[in-house]
Amino acid sequence: MQLKDKVAVITGAASGIGKEIACEYARQGAKVVIADLALDAAGATAGEINQAGGKAIPVAMDVTSEAQVDDGVAAAVEAFGGVDILISNAGIQIIAPVVELSFAHWKKMLAIQLDGAFLTTRACMREMIKGGRGGSVIYMGSVHSHEASPLKSAYVTAKHGLLGLARVVAKEGAKDRIRANVICPGYVRTPLVDKQIPEQAAQLKISEADVVRNVMLRETIDGEFTTTQDVAQTAVWLAAFPTTALSGQSILVSHGWHMQ
Ligand code: NAD
Repeated sequence: MQLKDKVAVITGAASGIGKEIACEYARQGAKVVIADLALDAAGATAGEINQAGGKAIPVAMDVTSEAQVDDGVAAAVEAFGGVDILISNAGIQIIAPVVELSFAHWKKMLAIQLDGAFLTTRACMREMIKGGRGGSVIYMGSVHSHEASPLKSAYVTAKHGLLGLARVVAKEGAKDRIRANVICPGYVRTPLVDKQIPEQAAQLKISEADVVRNVMLRETIDGEFTTTQDVAQTAVWLAAFPTTALSGQSILVSHGWHMQ
């Protein structure tokens, strides 16, 4: 029970990595707010957690909407009495070379990844400061916060941007014992990745097996995918860390794809 009675707002928690973090946090005693665009799926995740003896509520939240973020965080505070942890995790992937990427897709990616991170940080930090109990802000970066790949200009730009935001939040938050860190996973088999395997195969004119072997996992030390549980365990460790010694960092969980 490393997170007993901590209140965690997790965006994009209806699927993939966010869902696994929500379930693991609940097992560690946290009260979790499943904030997602997909309200039905968020409700299902919250239902699973509550059925297993945990505490969770679903909240409809488009992280690009200032009003929905502020309302969602207010609902979290009303239900659970404050916010101790933010996992800014909601994200999408768009695959296209720069010369074919539409401006609308570029803006959509930056809105979800960066506007969403800013809006949720602002709303949760205000509550953390009010609560006076400190806090932990965790951004879902990627190996693409440190490395570039073709076809992912908007994603790579946004994931690099999260490092900057985390460092500023670490500096501004320290006086209130608010820490900010970035988790940078390698490829994880979630709906986000399953969708891009055939897309990358078509763009690169190679087989789907080659996308997995020679694009996604080529630089790892052992040819293995990172798992949602690997990321969730990292998120527990970061949130449970007791002091501001661990702040402003990015933690790679990628089977050695990127070493820093
Ligand atoms: P996923 O597609 O399984 O889940 C993403 C969730 O975000 C979905 O539930 C979706 O409804 C939600 N979402 C999308 N847009 C939203 C919005 N505007 N507001 C609120 N919720 C929204 O994807 P995933 O693989 O679990 O990815 C989660 C995060 O992890 C993303 O930020 C992604 O970039 C990052 N990441 C994923 C991988 C990977 O290999 N899967 C690797 C590194 C980083």
